[in-house]
Amino acid sequence: MLPAALHPLAADPAQTRGRRFAEAPAPTRSDFQRDRDRIVHSTAFRRLVYKTQVFLNHEGDLFRTRLTHSLEVAQLGRSIARSLGLNEDLVEAIALAHDLGHTPFGHAGQDALHDCMRAHGGFEHNLQSLRVVDVLEERYPAFDGLNLCFETREGILKHCSRANAQALEADEPHGVGHRFLVGESPSLEAQLCNLADEIAYNAHDVDDGVRSGLITLEQVASVPLFDRFLRLALQAHPGLNGRRLLFESIRLMLSAQVYDVIDATRAAIADSGVDHPQAVRHAGVLVRFSPDMRADSAALKQFLLHNLYRHPQVVATMDSARRVVRDLFALYVAEPPAALTRRDGDSPERAVADYIAGMTDRYAISAHQQHSGQSLFD
Ligand code: MG
Repeated sequence: MLPAALHPLAADPAQTRGRRFAEAPAPTRSDFQRDRDRIVHSTAFRRLVYKTQVFLNHEGDLFRTRLTHSLEVAQLGRSIARSLGLNEDLVEAIALAHDLGHTPFGHAGQDALHDCMRAHGGFEHNLQSLRVVDVLEERYPAFDGLNLCFETREGILKHCSRANAQALEADEPHGVGHRFLVGESPSLEAQLCNLADEIAYNAHDVDDGVRSGLITLEQVASVPLFDRFLRLALQAHPGLNGRRLLFESIRLMLSAQVYDVIDATRAAIADSGVDHPQAVRHAGVLVRFSPDMRADSAALKQFLLHNLYRHPQVVATMDSARRVVRDLFALYVAEPPAALTRRDGDSPERAVADYIAGMTDRYAISAHQQHSGQSLFD
C-alpha cells in the first residue's frame, strides 16, 4: 500500500524549527528520521531495557520494561499517525525518547529523587528526558546531547512546571518551555504520543498484572471497557480461556481504542477549522478519545491504580526502591563517585541526580548492596 499523503496539519521535516547547533542535512534521511536514529543509538535508550515499568526487571523475564513499553508506544503511535496522515517518523522519534529520563524503579524512583532534590530544583522525569537528549548524552565531538530538532524535543517535554518552563525559556527564548508559559498545545504528533502512551500502559499493565498473578481476569472484568472486549472475545471464541482469552481481549480493546482515537481526532480537527500546522498550537488538544472512550479509559486507569500499582506486593517493592534512591543520593552527595560528571553551572546535587537517574534498576540495587551491605530485594 502506498503511504497516504501527509495531512496539511502534519509536521513537515522541511519546515523544522531546526537544531540548536546547525548541521548539514543528511543525504538520505529527513531530520525526523535522523532524530529517531540518534535516539535508538543513544546510551540512555539501551538502558531502558533494565528499567522498571511496573515490575522490577529481576521480578520476571516476561514483563514490560521501559524499552518494550517505548516500542509499544511507537507502534501504536505510528499506526494511528499513518491513518491520520501525521508524520510517522516524528511520532516514532518522540515515542522512543519519551521515557529516556526515567529513574530506576519507575515512579517510586522518581518520587524519591524528587524528594531528595526538593531544595535543589526538584526532579521531574519529562524534563530529565529532555536533559538526556539536550545535555547528558556524550556522543558528538561538537556538542553535548543528541542535538535533536525542536519538534522532537517539544514532544519529549510532555509536561513542565511553570518554574521549569521559565528556566528553559531563559536559556532558550521561545524554545520548548514557551508553550507552557502561554498555554499553547504542541504538534499533533506530540499530542498523539501522549495518548499512545496512555493506551499502551493501560493495556500492557492489565496483561502484566494478570500474568503476574497480582490481579485476576475476573477482577479486570469489573472494568466496563475490558468486560466489553472479554465478552466479544468469548462470543467469537466460546470456551476460550487462560492466556489466549487475556490476549484476545486486550487485542480487541487496543484496536477499538486506536479506531476511536482516529475517528474522534478526525472529527476534532474538522470541527476546529484549523488549517495550518502553526494554528494547531492555539486549538487545544485535538488528538483525543471520544468522550465515552475517555471515560472508559479513565476508569481502567483507576482500576489499575487501586488494584495493581497499589497492590501490597508492588508497594513493598517500591518502598525498598525509594530507600535505595534516598540512600544512594545521601552517599553520593557526601562522597561523589569517580564516575560522576559535574557540568558547569550544575549543583553537586544535580550531578548526583543525573547520575542516579541514569542507573538501571539492577545497577542501583547492586550499588546500594555494595555500600550498605544490605540486600533489600531478596
Ligand atoms: Mg511512557
